[in-house]
Amino acid sequence: MTTTRFAPSPTGKLHLGHAYSARVAHDLARKQNGRFLVRFEDIDHTRVRPEYYEGILTDLRWLGLAWDEEPWKQLDRLEHYQAALDRLKALGVVYPCYCTRREIETELTNLTHAPHGPEGPLYPGTCRGLATPPADREPAWRLDFQKGADLVGLLTFHDLRHGKIDVDPGLLGDVILARKDIGTSYHLAVVIDDAAQKITHVTRGEDLLGSTHIHRLLQTLLNLPEPAYLHHQLILDDSGQRLAKRHDALAISTLRERGEDPWNMLPPA
Ligand code: GLU
Ligand code: ZN
Repeated sequence: MTTTRFAPSPTGKLHLGHAYSARVAHDLARKQNGRFLVRFEDIDHTRVRPEYYEGILTDLRWLGLAWDEEPWKQLDRLEHYQAALDRLKALGVVYPCYCTRREIETELTNLTHAPHGPEGPLYPGTCRGLATPPADREPAWRLDFQKGADLVGLLTFHDLRHGKIDVDPGLLGDVILARKDIGTSYHLAVVIDDAAQKITHVTRGEDLLGSTHIHRLLQTLLNLPEPAYLHHQLILDDSGQRLAKRHDALAISTLRERGEDPWNMLPPA
């Protein structure tokens, strides 16, 4: 059955961009008599605030976007991410990284040809093949994308807007799959949960198109099904910037209080 999801982070209020994204997922499911789910991506636990969970659901209800099952919270699912990380360790496609952010920055400024991706500088691979790990530090775990890519061969994904796309497994470099504070990352958690919730169509903003290359690699390594994708346009403000937490005037709750209709301010579906 067609199943879609909206996966907000409860680190702020819903704004117009989220409303658009939620509607894309909702409408795709409804058109096919499928299921529309909500999942709280709350692993960024230091920025999460309890009132945002309820606020987001209140906004979705007011927007008329009804979901079909009790929303999941990623913080309830850490053991599943741990199990997936263990499988990746057994495959030999992850390695511990002891670098601090500052050390990575220093390393990058010292390199003449610092690796670059679409979203900025890539991790320079300092800890790949590290012989003696420092005893006093907890590691994060990074994907060794080259080892992963060698195991799975060529991959593609299908996007309803962009068509068939060849996976470039190194696009984002050796990304973190498990942060040292929480034992997972966006990439690992989203792949595990999309499979666990049997999501058939992953819909999200096109700012996450790059992440999908990593997700296809992880899905294949972990033997998970391949969903279809729809990376939709981003909703921008008047100056062409993507909407962010600072756009309080465009928060759904603000529009509700002012009696404004968010759908009039958004492009048609
Ligand atoms: N939590 C992400 C966001 O707020 C969505 C991630 C996804 O849909 O894969 O943009
Ligand atoms: Zn490192």
